[in-house]
Amino acid sequence: MTGIEQLPIRDELRGKTPYGAPQLDVPVRLNTNENPYPLPEELVRRIAERVTEAARTLNRYPDRDAVELRTALASYLTRTTGFEVSGNQIWAANGSNEVIQQLLQTFGGPGRTAIGFEPSYSMHGLISRGTGTGWLSGPRREDFTVDTDAAVRAIAEQRPSVVFVCSPNNPTGTAVERETVVALYEAAQAAGPSMVIVDEAYGEFSHRPSLLPLIEGRPNLVVSRTMSKAFGAAGLRLGYLAADPAVVDAVQLVRLPYHLSAVTQATALAALEHTDTLLGYVERLKEERDRLVRELRALGLEVTESDANFVQFGRFDDAHLTWQALLEQGVLVRDNGVPGRLRVTAGTPEENDAFLDAVRAVTKETP
Ligand code: PMP
Repeated sequence: MTGIEQLPIRDELRGKTPYGAPQLDVPVRLNTNENPYPLPEELVRRIAERVTEAARTLNRYPDRDAVELRTALASYLTRTTGFEVSGNQIWAANGSNEVIQQLLQTFGGPGRTAIGFEPSYSMHGLISRGTGTGWLSGPRREDFTVDTDAAVRAIAEQRPSVVFVCSPNNPTGTAVERETVVALYEAAQAAGPSMVIVDEAYGEFSHRPSLLPLIEGRPNLVVSRTMSKAFGAAGLRLGYLAADPAVVDAVQLVRLPYHLSAVTQATALAALEHTDTLLGYVERLKEERDRLVRELRALGLEVTESDANFVQFGRFDDAHLTWQALLEQGVLVRDNGVPGRLRVTAGTPEENDAFLDAVRAVTKETP
């Protein structure tokens, strides 16, 4: 049997493990920050109509520049953030992971580095490595917020080509202050100039306004978003960015031709027609997220403030043991490797009740 180590793979991939959140078949799955609400039937029917229409011309390649979709995404952002963007400031791809990959292919690559303030979204580092970009682990405070001075120093010293700011941050749930992003941008321009990627995958769940208006007058700042969370469409694979139109032109140098299928474009357009219903679910999830924070604190646990659709909680002597004990109660949460901490995604009220019951049972056993 040939193992991966016998293959002539690139040196920087040796010994690495792939992204691998367990996909286990248990009653309560709260481990991948998905939206627990299935799409409403009315939208399912609209998707079928739009996809049927697209199927009639599947013998042709799709709109390579996804103009209709980018225009609809621009209207969505304008409407929900109050900051006006147009279609030429938007780029879309198969999930925001692909958006990030295209950005790293364009602005990172061999001989260049990217920095993120950890713990943060592990794919920022993995996609960096996958694109030949060196990865630098930047600092974060004990309370998981970004220390502006320390972060600015790291940028000035290490001069990365790409700076990741994840807000709200996964897996901690913490948002980043607007002033911090401005300071990091200025440091990145002085050290680079470099690109700053604000990953707002969970932006719709935040207590605070979007950082999107920061793109004004900052051509090297990109905000990435996704339909996987707020739109409840993780299976669709649609992510997008908003930035200066020059950034949109630049990523077209690396995107594969026709990367967004006609079926994907049709489905995303149908979902955007139902934004109000979907954002109604977001409001429910925000309330449930706040309830999880309150109830976990009432159980005496240490809970990180959350602006996302998930909550980081602890502290456990051995977080992995607690993870296992919760799994035995039929509840799957996430062990992101943050010492003493676990992460739970806000589910339906019933799922969250089941989770809280499981936590009560487990913490009683191991105080
Ligand atoms: N950014 C962050 C911070 C995430 O947590 C995720 C998904 N877990 C993504 C990006 C990627 O999401 P998608 O590719 O589904 O858009």
